[in-house]
Amino acid sequence: MQPAVLVLNCGSSSLKYSLVEPDPGTSVAHGIVERIGSDHALATLAYGGLKVSRERRVTDHDAALRLTFEMFAEAGGHLETLGLVAVGHRVVHGGREFYRPTVVDDALIARLGELAPLAPLHNPPGVLGIEVARRLLPDLPQVAVFDTAFFHDLPDAAAAYAIDREVAEAWGLRRYGFHGTSHQYVSEQAAAFLGVDPAGISQIVLHLGNGASASAIVGGRPVDTSMGMTPMEGLVMGTRSGDVDPGIVFYLGRTAGMATEDIENMLNRRSGVFGLAGHNDFRELHKLIENGDAAARLAYDVYIHRLRKYIGAYLAVLGNTDVISFTAGVGENDAMVRRDALTGLAPLGIELDEHLNESPANGPRVISAENSPITVLVIPTNEELAIARACLGALH
Ligand code: ADP
Repeated sequence: MQPAVLVLNCGSSSLKYSLVEPDPGTSVAHGIVERIGSDHALATLAYGGLKVSRERRVTDHDAALRLTFEMFAEAGGHLETLGLVAVGHRVVHGGREFYRPTVVDDALIARLGELAPLAPLHNPPGVLGIEVARRLLPDLPQVAVFDTAFFHDLPDAAAAYAIDREVAEAWGLRRYGFHGTSHQYVSEQAAAFLGVDPAGISQIVLHLGNGASASAIVGGRPVDTSMGMTPMEGLVMGTRSGDVDPGIVFYLGRTAGMATEDIENMLNRRSGVFGLAGHNDFRELHKLIENGDAAARLAYDVYIHRLRKYIGAYLAVLGNTDVISFTAGVGENDAMVRRDALTGLAPLGIELDEHLNESPANGPRVISAENSPITVLVIPTNEELAIARACLGALH
């Protein structure tokens, strides 16, 4: 039996999990419990060719993980027989302090609790996941893998905000970057796919999922990324605004009388493509555009405009770019987004092959023309595998 790692990714009302054999890199099972805390929570599990789902009351994350184990057992996968050696946790914010995958102990949990104000929407569910897994699987080591880790050594010029230095230092205000596990994994996969040493190339990675971020990477080390102190900065996302003038926040507070939490909620959950078009799934967005929906058209245009701005910025940051990779739900599947992001950029060294771009394929692939100075790739991300591998690395 191969050693397996249970990877958990907790949101405030969801628990996403994956059972991964890090070597050779097989996903044995995966699933999600959604709407935790409601009478109609939905739990799904895909395991060994079986798909199982349950809709029922799930009071909390503890109950969600218990239900997951029950569903595993019903599908024939008893925990004792799965070869579990560790539980890996995606933790969004590691602050300045944490960037290596870290074996969880009481001190780490206490420190993560103190970091919660830096990522109030994202870190508390991650810590909750750790606590639940420790209770239910007390004999297994738990490892925290931080979404900020890859960007820990971002050059100061990219990491610092141009604001009062004392205030910034006192409150830890800097650009931390997120989706690091994905940016690192995809940049390594891109180099491996091309058969080159990552140390010898410069890359742009475009992680376009529901959350979206871009990074510029030289020799395997990031030199810039679009997310900042929180995952709100940068590209237009499914429900997050990305870059806005901070003046908007003061205006809404002072003039519109909105509470800080309401503004934060709006910018995180009711903005981006959803805020403009009422939907955040790009498949839906395209249908609306085809039917002449002006709001959907505007949302798409704003999304593409921002994406092109970041690509242009990172071409300038890098000076010389070898590879651009698209990844995550939109990046891997939406040929139109890829085309519209890069069209007309031949003078900057980017020429897509329309046929390759549009051919429906899975797996890593080239979508640029043979003579394009910059190679454009689609590289599926696999954050769960990267977390599982980082976990094993932390234990040895
Ligand atoms: P996250 O992990 O941030 O939740 P994903 O990387 O899974 O997000 O991306 C989810 C998004 O990908 C969906 O909201 C949808 O917009 C987009 N997506 C998924 N499949 C397709 C597809 N076939 N065509 C276009 N967009 C897609």
